[in-house]
Amino acid sequence: MAQWRWGLWAMLAVLSVFLCANAEVGLDADRIAADTLYLCEQIGIREAGTEAERQTCDWLEGWLTALGFSSGAGSLRRTAFRSLEEKTSENLIAVCNAGSQGPLFTIVAHYDSVSTSPGARDNAAAVGILLDIARLLGPECASLPCEIHLAFVGSEENGYHGARSYVAGLSEAEKARHQGAFVMDISAASPDDHAVLVTTLLGGRLPDGQYAAAERLPALENGVTRAVSAACQELSGIGAPSFYRGESDHQPFHDAGLEAANVCWRRVEEGWPWLPDSYHQASDTPQELDYETAVLTGRCIVRAIELLTLATQ
Ligand SMILES: [Zn+2]
Repeated sequence: MAQWRWGLWAMLAVLSVFLCANAEVGLDADRIAADTLYLCEQIGIREAGTEAERQTCDWLEGWLTALGFSSGAGSLRRTAFRSLEEKTSENLIAVCNAGSQGPLFTIVAHYDSVSTSPGARDNAAAVGILLDIARLLGPECASLPCEIHLAFVGSEENGYHGARSYVAGLSEAEKARHQGAFVMDISAASPDDHAVLVTTLLGGRLPDGQYAAAERLPALENGVTRAVSAACQELSGIGAPSFYRGESDHQPFHDAGLEAANVCWRRVEEGWPWLPDSYHQASDTPQELDYETAVLTGRCIVRAIELLTLATQ
């Protein structure tokens, strides 16, 4: 991607003004912290296929409805699917600018947890970020000429079933418009992690437009990781490095030939993005997290979508 184009987009972006629902407010660390606390301590462990997972989906639907998303207007979709061992889980998709024929983006956060952990960073904090992005954008965001699916998915922890069901439900026309999926999983960090924002991916487009597995890409990056890194550089002064790694909801997107990346916090040592020590442990609690890292994750994703949308105009 030519350097001058990034420069032009950055200049256009500086001139552009967000006119979305609560753009002047921005993402808020206290709101994300409160939502993370509610999910982990009021609902608790949210294992796929359980009453607690369904209760989480009800709670999210209540919030999104209050924000103006509605099934009648085509901006809220709740769908059930079968996951591991014939259990039933659900996805809840809030659509910003439903019916737009512009580029389509998806932001994903799974709301289930493993049975051994309250799952604060994996993945209640990401759900809190996505809910705050819903507050920021609302169902209609006039200054962003694109469609954004805010995908709250179930049943990640037992095999990425929610993301797989979501991708399987995209029409061919939607896939053709799909410019990238931003998957949040472990998308906040604690000070003890000594972590940085990174992206992980499994595939992307070659210069001729063909989709290829990551090891066949000329560089370990795709359109999503480049945009996140540019946004992170702009917002924090540090670009987000990319790694070739699976183990999350970005895999079903890559399997369908769609560009995607996991946007997460990792301690990077010896060239490898290490998972935090509390991963899938009872110690993964809301009190451990620095919610400013969650805000940066969300801001980088919204900014990356803005950069990619400007690039298509
Ligand atoms: Zn997770």
